[in-house]
Order: sequence, then C-alpha cells, then structure tokens
Amino acid sequence: MGPDAGPVLSQAVNAKAAIRRIAPPLPTRQKSVHTLILMTSVPNIPGEPTDQATLPQGTIAPSPKDIAPGLYLVATPIGNLRDITLRALDVLAGADRVLAEDTRMSRRLFDAYGLRPKCEAYHEHNAGRRRDSVLVALEQGAKIALISDAGTPLISDPGYKLVREAAARGVAVYAIPGPSAMLAALTVSGLPTDKFLFAGFLPPRQSARRRALEALKPTPASLVFYETAKRVLAVLDDMNAVLGPRPAVLARELTKRFETLYRAPLDQLGSQIPEAELRGEMVLVIGPPDDEGQWDEAQIDTALTEAMTHQSLKGAVDEISKMCGQPRRLVYRRALDIQKQS
Ligand code: SAM
Repeated sequence: MGPDAGPVLSQAVNAKAAIRRIAPPLPTRQKSVHTLILMTSVPNIPGEPTDQATLPQGTIAPSPKDIAPGLYLVATPIGNLRDITLRALDVLAGADRVLAEDTRMSRRLFDAYGLRPKCEAYHEHNAGRRRDSVLVALEQGAKIALISDAGTPLISDPGYKLVREAAARGVAVYAIPGPSAMLAALTVSGLPTDKFLFAGFLPPRQSARRRALEALKPTPASLVFYETAKRVLAVLDDMNAVLGPRPAVLARELTKRFETLYRAPLDQLGSQIPEAELRGEMVLVIGPPDDEGQWDEAQIDTALTEAMTHQSLKGAVDEISKMCGQPRRLVYRRALDIQKQS
C-alpha cells in the first residue's frame, strides 16, 4: 500500500461506519417483506418525513441526525420532486450545512420534505472565495452537503475543485447517488448504452462547436450532450453536417409534466420538433458511428507512421487515438512496434 493509502483507507472505514449507521442492512430472511414496506414508507409530497416510531421493526426510514463528518455530494431531482433517495433526505437533514447553487431553488425541495437545513450559496461565481472556508470546516469535522439546482452535483455543475481539494486534504467524500439528466436520457434513448461519452455543453460559437464535434466524431460510443432550447436547432444542423445522419434522440423535460422524446436520424430530427416544443430543458443522445467508420489496423499504422515523422511518439499516439477512437494503450503498442521496425 502506498503512502497515500492512509486517508483513502480511513475514508473507507468512515464510509463503512456511516453506511452502517445510515442504512442498517435488511434482515436476510425477510427481505421481500421489507422491500414492500420500504416503498410504502416514502414520504408523500408535500408532507412530513415518515415517523420512525410508526414503522415496523427493520424498516429503513430516514435517520436524519446520524451521519459521519465529511463532504456529501447529494443528487437531487431533475424535475419530479419524488425522485430523491431516502439517504439523500437523511443527509440533507443531518448535515451541518448544505451548499446549494441557488438557495431559492433548493428551498422548494426542502419545503416539500419538511427540511430546514442551514443553506448557503455555492455557485460558480463565489466558489473560488468560499472554497477555503468550507475546506477548513471539513477538516475540523463538519458534515457538509453539496447540491446543485437539479441532478448530480459536479455534472456540468460546480464542485469539482472542492472535491479535489477535500480529497487531497484527507477529508471523507461521499456520493449520495440519484438522478442525472444524462443517464436518464441515455437509458430511455434506445441507443447503445455499453459505451457512451458525456460531452456536457458544446461551445456556443459555431466554429468552436464544429471543431469539438470533429474531435468527437471517431469516438466509438454513443454521445450525450446537454443543450439549451435556444440553440438546439443550430446544434442539430452542425451535428448533421459533421457527424452525418446518425440515429439521435432529443429528450426534453425528463421526469416533468411535458416530458417528450423525439427519435430520428440527425438530418431529420430538427424538423420533427414542433416550434412550440422548442423550450424547456433537453439532452441530446447521438448513436455511435457505423462500423464502416472504424479504422482497421493498417489504417492506424499508416496514420501513426505519418504522424511520427513530425512529432514525438507520445504526441502521435495522442492524436491518432483521438482520431480513430481506439484506446490509447492499443495505439501506443502499435506505435512502439512501428518505432522498433524503423
Ligand atoms: N447536474 C445536472 C445533472 O446531473 O443532470 C445537470 C446540470 S446542467 C447545468 C443543466 C442541463 O441538464 C440542462 O441545460 C439540460 O441540458 C439538462 N437537464 C437538466 N434537467 C433536465 C430534464 N429534466 N430534462 C432534460 N434535460 C435536463
């Protein structure tokens, strides 16, 4: 075990203890009965969290005060307020404070579940100033939850630097997983899910956007993008121009009242969306390139040989693995063979 194992190990131990406290394991002999009870114990909205005392023994119910010190990344609903886990409610109720992107937005969620956490703003404009004091509090044993306006924090949302710094300082960081628009869209898309690349938001300017799409073109995986309603038609045009008529899905207002899915090849998708529906939140999922687009070994070798004439082996490998969409280690192995033979 290396010198860094200490904090990681202690985090694992802390995490185990926390899991034991937050979610006691179900008694093995009565699992199905308890699963049923669990479903009926989810609080209604609006309403008070279920009272532990009224539940049959062994039922998992919110245990708000019982969480270990550390930073909690809590996923929250992307629309339907019932899409929240019991553990997320525990943590929001038990944290010393909750860092929220927009405190007013988060209030809706808190109100729905009768939660009254100490809530502070933490967003891209103040994160640089706030981060140090948050880290100091964490080092002193605070229990701090981070949430975004919707979905999973850090996914096209603030928090990455906070997590990086917290981990570097040996602070325990816990995922409280739940909704994320990208996974919700990918899973309903009907497009391949075995390999996918989440590309977040494309650049707003067309030239940069087309360059970004060119770089993604050879990736042998489904591509998932966040997009705004205002730009989506322009983005679909660029996608069709760069990627060709691949199968595509636009998932709009997921989990909300006007949830809609449009499935069509990229050259038709834009024209299938009624103008009135060009609003709300949306995710685009694009199918992978055909096998025809895949490079064979001879093509990779030719491209590598050429690239290695004017740049380092590492540079050539980086460039060609991106272009052909093959894993870097495979391309690196071929580059070493070419180097040996020359
Ligand atoms: N952290 C969030 C997550 O885990 O999904 C994403 C935050 S990002 C700032 C917001 C973008 O997510 C929106 O512009 C939209 O592309 C996508 N999004 C969020 N909620 C959505 C929903 N209910 N339906 C479709 N897309 C959604």
